Amino acid sequence: MKLRSYVDGVWFEAADGFTEVRSAVDGRTVGLVSSSGIDFQRVLDHARHTGGPALRALTFHQRADAIKRLAAYLNERKERFYDLSYDTGATRKDSWVDIDGGIMTLFSFASKARRELPDARIAVDGAVEPLSKGGTFAGRHIMTPLHGAAVHINAYNFPCWGMLEKLAPAIIAGVPAIVKPATQSAYVAQAVFEEIVASGILPEGSVQLIVGSLGDLLDRLTGQDVVSFTGSARTATTLQQTRAIAENSVRFIAERDSLNASILGPDVQADAPEFELFVKEVAREITTKAGQRCTCIRRAIVPRGIIDRVQNALAARLDRAVLGNPRSENVTMGALVSRGQRDDVLASVKELAAEAQIVYGDPWSSPSVVDADAQAGAFMSPVVLRCDHPLQAQRVHSIEAFGPVTTLMAYDTISQAVEIANRGEGSLVASIFSYDPVTADALVLGIAPFHGRVLVVDRDNAKEQTGHGSPLAPLVHGGPGRAGGGEEMGGVRGVFHYMQRTAVQGTPQRLATVTGVWNPGASETVAQRHPFELAFEELRNGETFYTPSREITLEDVERFAAFTGDAFYAHMDEAAAKTSPFFEGRVAHGYLVLSFAAGLFVRPQLGPVLANYGIEGLRFLKPVYPADTIRVRLTVKEKTLRKPEYGEVRWSVTVFNQNDEVVAQYDLLTMNATKEHVPALELAR
Ligand code: NAP
Repeated sequence: MKLRSYVDGVWFEAADGFTEVRSAVDGRTVGLVSSSGIDFQRVLDHARHTGGPALRALTFHQRADAIKRLAAYLNERKERFYDLSYDTGATRKDSWVDIDGGIMTLFSFASKARRELPDARIAVDGAVEPLSKGGTFAGRHIMTPLHGAAVHINAYNFPCWGMLEKLAPAIIAGVPAIVKPATQSAYVAQAVFEEIVASGILPEGSVQLIVGSLGDLLDRLTGQDVVSFTGSARTATTLQQTRAIAENSVRFIAERDSLNASILGPDVQADAPEFELFVKEVAREITTKAGQRCTCIRRAIVPRGIIDRVQNALAARLDRAVLGNPRSENVTMGALVSRGQRDDVLASVKELAAEAQIVYGDPWSSPSVVDADAQAGAFMSPVVLRCDHPLQAQRVHSIEAFGPVTTLMAYDTISQAVEIANRGEGSLVASIFSYDPVTADALVLGIAPFHGRVLVVDRDNAKEQTGHGSPLAPLVHGGPGRAGGGEEMGGVRGVFHYMQRTAVQGTPQRLATVTGVWNPGASETVAQRHPFELAFEELRNGETFYTPSREITLEDVERFAAFTGDAFYAHMDEAAAKTSPFFEGRVAHGYLVLSFAAGLFVRPQLGPVLANYGIEGLRFLKPVYPADTIRVRLTVKEKTLRKPEYGEVRWSVTVFNQNDEVVAQYDLLTMNATKEHVPALELAR
């Protein structure tokens, strides 16, 4: 019953100062929460001096692998979390977003990090910037993990997803996390955390849990620490004013409350598919998780001429909701997290009702519920308000009733719809239901600066679109203004919140050794053997191969044109080619130059190179004319192990003409076998 914190490498149980947490469904006590007695300086020291160095000793890929293994470990044990989650008022379907959604987020961040970040301890950001004429001085940005702690303060509504969504980027960045779950649902977060600790996958000190108050921890933060907060705007503002946070410029990322909007386009008639889709989405948003979702549609903006039909259709849909014990199979809407939360929502509805009329649901009386005692649990009927003159109203755009509550708002013109949506002063998400391209484009562009994500739904994507409330992991989750400032916590961009971007200036050689990535101007090792004969481990950054030269004849150009079918005038017609401001006459195809370059450096025999994986940053810098000769410089730029059997090699390829002028430049990616897996013909036979 007493929930425990995990600090300084041990589980800690407080002796006093408990807050009682009750089941949302039947009111029985499900947990006692207190952090009384925790030495918060020790918590920070443990993160900074044990967790940080242990994580920084690993590469991005090793950390991402740990996150992936953790996801698999939690996935096998998730039933326990589902079982606990019912007491937060969530149905199994509600909890799926939290629990399976959280685990999937770990998988997704881990694989994105492996794809987008190097198998190294630091990352480079952007290209090398030449800073001198002679080429001895250049600059490049590097990203290194901060040496402090990531303090994660989470909201109650997604105890699992909210925790994992923040843990993955911090750990992948190499920064230890101190997690503070919201008290109301801390028993779910603690259960997930117990499994994280039991897995032994993450290094000691890389994660700690504080159940209850953070005591004086925030007063002890420095510029190397980061706070990632999810919750109400009011709490965020208070915490941002903590002296140490303000004075030490502690990074403070916030996901705060948001008055999300959904707009029904003026083109949509009541019999159009988009009408039905819109009504269904609004109903789903306010009943899922009893409307306690940061992305919930709080403002449904509809054309004035159709608002009555929308209201009736929405009422008919909401009538289908079955309220009650979330453990019961036929129940579609559970309870709010606590009776205290329900009181807060009712107080907000009261304020909204000063500007809007309640047109569905009776918030002031107990709803009828299935398999539960309506008095003991935190049940509440869905509530729909209607505001016919939203541009004259204030509260409907600023008060977030964090429960099953939405307000219908009437508009007359598209620009009014835009103005109403933007009155939310910054939201996580808005959706648009329209099948008219001009309307949809005008709405997207009108509201985009005020929203982190804009979802456009119509009959063509109806089956596959993921809904107003669900971003997919690679997309923005965060919003401008009151929604938090537009910072994204997730994905690879989220990883960078925990890192410092530093401009390093020096010789090209210095930049190459610091970053572990070869760049032009850094030293080259002229290969003794053809680099295509070397296994992945044997290749060194800077290993360079110069090919012999090859002349390109007019006949080559004509054969290439005949063979490929590319008879573009610049290659085939002298007079036409001369009309171009770029050419003096017929030129070789760019693709011919590429193909002949490959012909110059490719080694035909079976060997470690397994596949050509692609080309990046290709530029044709000078025309190649018939009778020109080309030669190639091939240099190993960067290597990334992908599997035990092979890794990706990034080669810098420069094609020169007979005057040593660069005619083409690109990065070539190949997959190369590791030593033990170099294919041999005897084995294949
Ligand atoms: P909340 O009351 O602001 O609490 C958020 C977190 O802050 C909780 O962990 C809370 O801990 C903690 N906290 C409160 N006072 C603190 C203090 N003085 N020092 C340190 N920590 C403190 O919000 P909530 O009721 O849990 O969550 C609902 C809100 O979150 C809604 O407004 C919703 O819109 C927002 N939300 C936003 C997003 C988003 O992505 N934008 C996502 C989810 C939720 P205790 O529980 O122990 O008080």
